[in-house]
Amino acid sequence: MYKVKEAGKNHYKIYHAEMDIEPQVTMENALRKGIERNELELYYQPQVSLENNKIVGVEALLRWIRPDQGMVPPCEFIPLAEETGLILPLGEWVLKEACLQSVKWGEQGILPIRIAVNISAIQFQQNNFIEKVTETLFETKANPENIELEITESVAMGSIEETLSKLQSLKEMGFHIAMDDFGTGYSSLQYLNQYPIDHLKIDRSFISSLHTSEKNVAIVKLIVLMAKGLNYKVIAEGVEDDSQKLFLRSIECDEYQGYLFSPPLNRLDTEVLLQKQLTKK
Ligand code: C2E
Ligand code: MG
Ligand code: MG
Ligand code: MG
Repeated sequence: MYKVKEAGKNHYKIYHAEMDIEPQVTMENALRKGIERNELELYYQPQVSLENNKIVGVEALLRWIRPDQGMVPPCEFIPLAEETGLILPLGEWVLKEACLQSVKWGEQGILPIRIAVNISAIQFQQNNFIEKVTETLFETKANPENIELEITESVAMGSIEETLSKLQSLKEMGFHIAMDDFGTGYSSLQYLNQYPIDHLKIDRSFISSLHTSEKNVAIVKLIVLMAKGLNYKVIAEGVEDDSQKLFLRSIECDEYQGYLFSPPLNRLDTEVLLQKQLTKK
């Protein structure tokens, strides 16, 4: 996964025993500098109502634009950031940036739409997570009603009571909560009826195999049905074609996200799209 050339020839020879570690250290340093040098940027992917095809939210997705290598996808640096603890400053930056953006879009009259922000389990499990979030709200003057925090099932790897109490605090502050990548983690149906969740996001892997797997058709139907019973809205991730969208609409899934409507876009392109929707009204 990591390019050998990054390690440098001499290092490669001297530290051959640590060959696997060295490039990772190089990347870690580059990421550390990248944060300082403003090489990180948020892209936004629309979340669309299946009822009326209107954009009701956007998910903020982190991009690292390396001067020498171009855009690095999050799957190549988020795991490293989680391993090294860099996810903490990175996650704080993302939340702050999304809050600032929601204030700006409010001033431009583009809101109300929610901005969804991915929260790493490591970030969520910090003892002072609620304090940090409160601080960010105070600093940015953002309205938490316009922000949705996306957590994954792995937050529940910590203590259920602690997770529950944190989610309740966030909910009381006014945030929306989404359970991301639903169906891929250590799902326990026990917590589902306890957590104050607004959205369940069905993982892309279920959607992309709808064509080929009758079993996944059954699973997706069941998730939507269950969510309705629990009073959660459902977002389907990774919708790439019309037949997937039609199926999701037929089973009354609420919203979708995917390349069919739009890939993640930079801020300017997102604004163009949101403005277009406003003038259509
Ligand atoms: P995720 O939160 O589940 O985000 C959805 C991913 O699916 C995004 O990948 C998005 O670009 C991709 N996607 C959306 N529609 C389609 C589609 O129709 N087809 C296909 N093939 N893919 C689609 P991305 O941006 O590469 O992000 C990957 C993951 O990295 C995210 O998965 C999330 O877990 C993590 N991530 C991204 N930004 C952040 C961040 O700011 N903080 C944290 N902690 N994690 C982040
Ligand atoms: Mg997400
Ligand atoms: Mg997801
Ligand atoms: Mg996913």
